[in-house]
Amino acid sequence: MHEVGLAQETLDLAVATATQQQAREIRCLRIEVGQLSGVVVEALRFALETLAAGTMAAAATMEIEEIVARAYCVACGEAFDAMAQAYRCPQCGAICPDLVQGRELRLVSVEVI
Ligand SMILES: [Zn+2]
Repeated sequence: MHEVGLAQETLDLAVATATQQQAREIRCLRIEVGQLSGVVVEALRFALETLAAGTMAAAATMEIEEIVARAYCVACGEAFDAMAQAYRCPQCGAICPDLVQGRELRLVSVEVI
């Protein structure tokens, strides 16, 4: 379960950010997870909540948003939903394996008090 490692990294980053801001407590973590990142959102949420116990983020709300995988066509410049179109450009029919988003796991913001 690699969600545990990712959750730990994300939590460490959030705590470091909050410490830098001289916060007492973390109220909310906002995280974006790509549809094709291989991360199971519920497993990530569970890992975050478990690891957060006893830290500044113990009472934090974990807001996890799933980001749709989008591909970009180098032939015509179209960006489209990679999963829905099976990587085939709806404009020109080219196969576009390059994703512009959908594989990321990103800590978007940390709300502190
Ligand atoms: Zn195209």
